Amino acid sequence: MSKPDFNTLSPSNIVAFLEDIFERRGGEEYLGEPVTMAEHMLQGATIAEQNGQREIIIVSALLHDVGHFTSEFGMFSMDDTEDKYHEDAGAEVLQDYFPTIVTDCVRYHVAAKRYLCATRPSYFDRLSDASIHSLNLQGGPMNDAEIQAFEQNPNLEDIIAVRFLDEAGKHANMKTPPFAHFAPMVQRIVDQHCGVA
Ligand code: FE
Repeated sequence: MSKPDFNTLSPSNIVAFLEDIFERRGGEEYLGEPVTMAEHMLQGATIAEQNGQREIIIVSALLHDVGHFTSEFGMFSMDDTEDKYHEDAGAEVLQDYFPTIVTDCVRYHVAAKRYLCATRPSYFDRLSDASIHSLNLQGGPMNDAEIQAFEQNPNLEDIIAVRFLDEAGKHANMKTPPFAHFAPMVQRIVDQHCGVA
């Protein structure tokens, strides 16, 4: 298949489009962590699969940081600062092809960190130094009103599950399968959502 372009995406080429991004851009550094972007997302997905989590959680973990590659989606602006709103960018890219569980897990993975820091004191100990640094830039732990609002999300449990996978996927030396291993799973989620038989 020829390389899919962002402007001609469809349910039949979105997975190849994502795989192409992993292959070309995945080697980029995940700022302040001992893993590349691709390793980080593949580790989260692999851990989810090893733990017997649902496909939708595996796929959400696999794609949660895809918004870091905003320049692939025609969303890049010279005014962007590193890591700004990558969670919104990722959800926007995925929303035409993936169900709300996936886009919520992507969109709210930063909010989930702020939520967990406010509601589970032991959670903070899991955070890497880079994650603590970005927590402060992202607004710090949620206040009571923010916690209440966040808890209204029907996908709260899944959002938190993906957040834990985000934290877990930062091993310096962990073997994972490549994106291709997960591609059929990603396609199943797309086909279910888009009503492809
Ligand atoms: Fe992440």
